[in-house]
Amino acid sequence: MTDIETAVLRADAAGIAEAARLLAAGGLVSFPTETVYGLGGDARNDIAVARIFDAKGRPRFNPLIVHVPDLETARRFARIDGPLAALATGFWPGPLSLVAPLADGHGLSPLVTAGLDTVALRVPAHPAAQDLLRVFDGPVAAPSANRSGRISPTTAAHVMAGLNGKLDAVVDAGACAVGLESTIVGGDPLALLRPGGLAQDDIETITGPLAGAGAGITAPGQLSSHYAPDATLRLNANTAHPGEVLLGFGPMQSDLNLSVSGDLIEAAANLFGHLHSLDAMARPIAVAPIPKCGLGQAINDRLARAAAPRG
Ligand code: AMP
Ligand code: MG
Repeated sequence: MTDIETAVLRADAAGIAEAARLLAAGGLVSFPTETVYGLGGDARNDIAVARIFDAKGRPRFNPLIVHVPDLETARRFARIDGPLAALATGFWPGPLSLVAPLADGHGLSPLVTAGLDTVALRVPAHPAAQDLLRVFDGPVAAPSANRSGRISPTTAAHVMAGLNGKLDAVVDAGACAVGLESTIVGGDPLALLRPGGLAQDDIETITGPLAGAGAGITAPGQLSSHYAPDATLRLNANTAHPGEVLLGFGPMQSDLNLSVSGDLIEAAANLFGHLHSLDAMARPIAVAPIPKCGLGQAINDRLARAAAPRG
């Protein structure tokens, strides 16, 4: 996407109000948390979430952490019971993300969860993050505000150095306190999915011993249990074979089209929703060629995994 003007906002009432307005309009806003600066977008808005991946230059659609102001709000989006509820009560707000089953009617973009039926939720303690989440009054998807593969930003200047022109604004509230990403816990049995700012020992005082990551569930940044359609996928197809449904891209005849105008951000925004819809038709899916530039890399990565033989 072409560059846009990035505003630097103060974490005062006027700055937070402007940041919330930008989020509500589908914009991207970086904001401080106690761990690192996040790159936030409305977690219900497919295009905003696709823009996060585009701005970061992420080669893959791994699921994003959704930020909310408190446990009560988190429960609109996920079922937080048992040990997860005990952890939320013990450590929220704080540097802990909980992976929990999606709640009915959650309304989150499938791109946020990478099509999974679970979501990672966090309640940040930083006052600027709390203010923004309360004024915006909605779920904010936010990975760290750095280009993919670069170091996580702990100041607004770091954010600007990496992403100036790729987001609408950054809320500047000085340096982050923790500087480490949040600890992620989830799965059944409950496992440490990523070490981070909250120590495993502290978590285990509430839960007892956690299973290690990779117990067949997830590994940090690399999910082994990706959403996979039931239907078989045939890639780089220009037309459907008899019996197939066609997922198009660009101007063409198709059953569903990722983006008639050939816009990769729109295509990313539609990817999981369209795959789910076509999958429900219980027929093999042919997929049109997608360019490999920009977000096309992540789209092709996701399609290649969905098309790979199941083991
Ligand atoms: P971040 O880049 O800091 O937003 O971290 C996101 C990471 O959280 C992902 O790479 C996953 O490892 C983890 N994660 C997010 N959502 C889920 C989920 N639904 N299930 C398992 N892990 C998740
Ligand atoms: Mg990161």
